[in-house]
Amino acid sequence: MPELPEVKTIQDQLNKVMPFEIKSFKTSNVVNSILHTKLDKIKGKTILTVSRKGKMLDFILNDNRHLLSHLGMTGTWLISKEQILEKHTHLQFKSDQFFLAYVDPRRFGHMYLYNQEKAQLKLGELGVDLLDPNFSEDYFIHSLKKYPERQIKVSLLDQSLFAGTGNYIANEICAHARVRPQRRVKTLTLKELAALYQGVFKVLNPTINSGGTTFAGGYRDTTGDKGSGVNHLVVFYQKTCQLCKSEKVKKIILAQRGTYYCPSCQK
Ligand SMILES: [Zn+2]
Repeated sequence: MPELPEVKTIQDQLNKVMPFEIKSFKTSNVVNSILHTKLDKIKGKTILTVSRKGKMLDFILNDNRHLLSHLGMTGTWLISKEQILEKHTHLQFKSDQFFLAYVDPRRFGHMYLYNQEKAQLKLGELGVDLLDPNFSEDYFIHSLKKYPERQIKVSLLDQSLFAGTGNYIANEICAHARVRPQRRVKTLTLKELAALYQGVFKVLNPTINSGGTTFAGGYRDTTGDKGSGVNHLVVFYQKTCQLCKSEKVKKIILAQRGTYYCPSCQK
């Protein structure tokens, strides 16, 4: 599933073809399972820029409406000078120069065309974005402490607290902080909480710089490329822990998700 580094990579690439005047558009016959509103009077409108909060892309139109796009498990936006004929293309916009297509084989993505007010409400359901200046150590620790009984990874995945996290990010934050993901929040020391906060940036910086992270059959950016962020992961998707380079990574299931940790490095 695309997490913050992947969605940001797509956002940055989309912004290279903005502003984008929608001369025409085409939808698939199954688009309704993804697109929850009508694309009312969108022809002739211009997408000014693409903003983002957490994993939600926000295409801002020149009539103050917002097309919100969540990529679900397998969604991506492709940009091409030619019409995109790929299977599972559910929505395609055409400008004078480019085609912009939403492709999503498993169709867990969501899209909404909202006015300003409704868009703000929808985005308001999300907590602070991990790259937002307001994502401070105080905010992070205060948010975690709201649920002292929760296992740390469960709270790290909670989008209403931390917008943009996902399974691999949560695993990796715990590894960098040397904390096991199944620990209850109330057992964490202040030092461990601070290390978890630092862990966020240890995970985000290299994965963003390498254009996101791809696992088997996963994410592609707007050019169809896979990111190389997987090379920076220390426990997730790894056989041997990349922190100590010796211990075998242990895999458990936590909150229905594959969870990885090093029994030697993480307490
Ligand atoms: Zn280790």
